[in-house]
Amino acid sequence: MTTEPTESLLERAKAAPGALSRAELARLVALRDPAEREALYAAAYEVKLRATGPRVSLRGLVEIGNACAKNCLYCGLRRGNANVRRYEIPEGDVVRMARWAWERRFGSVVLQSGEIESDANTERIVRIVRAIRAFGGEDFAVVLSLGEQTEEVYRAWREAGAARYLLRIETSNPALYGTLHPADHSWARRRDCLRALRRLGYQVGSGVMIGLPGQTAEDLAGDIAFFRDEDIDMIGMGPFLPHGETPLGGVAVDRARQLELGLNMVAATRLQLHDRNLAATTVLQVLAPDGRERALRAGANVMMPNVTDTGYRRNYRLYEDKPCLEDTSEQCLGCLSRRVASIGETIAWGEPGTSPHFLARRGSSREAAAEPR
Ligand code: SAH
Ligand code: SF4
Repeated sequence: MTTEPTESLLERAKAAPGALSRAELARLVALRDPAEREALYAAAYEVKLRATGPRVSLRGLVEIGNACAKNCLYCGLRRGNANVRRYEIPEGDVVRMARWAWERRFGSVVLQSGEIESDANTERIVRIVRAIRAFGGEDFAVVLSLGEQTEEVYRAWREAGAARYLLRIETSNPALYGTLHPADHSWARRRDCLRALRRLGYQVGSGVMIGLPGQTAEDLAGDIAFFRDEDIDMIGMGPFLPHGETPLGGVAVDRARQLELGLNMVAATRLQLHDRNLAATTVLQVLAPDGRERALRAGANVMMPNVTDTGYRRNYRLYEDKPCLEDTSEQCLGCLSRRVASIGETIAWGEPGTSPHFLARRGSSREAAAEPR
């Protein structure tokens, strides 16, 4: 059997979503040849232009607290890391940072933290979401990224006005997940959380880490299949970077390869899924100063500038070498606008950046139609 040339595979992928088999996706993800990778990115860029145009949606990220009850083996915020100064941003300040993003006409704000399951935390988030919804209109979405919770908690936050939720599955391979987490962390629970969020009418975001120890190109192809099977609206993926104060801190990674894999995954995901929102994640910027712009050119259409007050940023380190620790939100925004302009794209100011996929499924679902964003 002769192998189909990459070019003809890309043509097929551009023509319709879901055109590639897992083996073909794995082949794209693993590409190394520079000319073939450029062809992959160019094809994905064409699909992105059809889906969203040369436009970038901004989500302001507020890292609202770093306490975490979990102990993921890769993450600097894990509860076992005693070297972190734990903080919780006072409610009024979180709302002020969200307002800052709204005043600058960002499409949405993401509230992210370690995972805390408690009534006090549930109510704190309800109050914050309500306060943001009180000034942010229909064009400003509140997005939460606060880990695994019960369906009741997700419902309370949804009723308070949160429209979207980000919860990465981390890897679609449960066995690999098992090697990256303590035994009491459950892949199935995480997947069930994604399903509960969807039932509740959230726009659902998920994602994975790329280049994990023991992860294969087939696993990454499986991740793209997972996003399709679970009907995920928004996808945020970034290469794994070791953090010295974690059990996986000693893992050696080839940073150039991590960047390549990250870009290949963005492009392969765009080619297979066509209409989802896809983030150009911050880790890519750690691996190359222009890493996020390269992701935009490979099919991503969302960026998440940090809008947390500078003083908190150094205590929210999921991985090492987090960029922009000393920068103010104003500086980050100026830098980002220039970077987006440098590749001939524009920022979609004042637009909520709703996932085209969510709009499509809203059209076919009464439940989602009740929600304007
Ligand atoms: N506690 C929440 C949200 C904060 S963690 C949650 O876990 O869902 C956000 C994401 O950071 C995680 O989903 C994980 O994919 C990523 N992350 C954590 N440690 C990382 C590392 N060492 N390298 C790259 N990404 C990492
Ligand atoms: Fe906590 Fe999220 Fe880090 Fe896991 S990835 S330790 S849940 S902050």
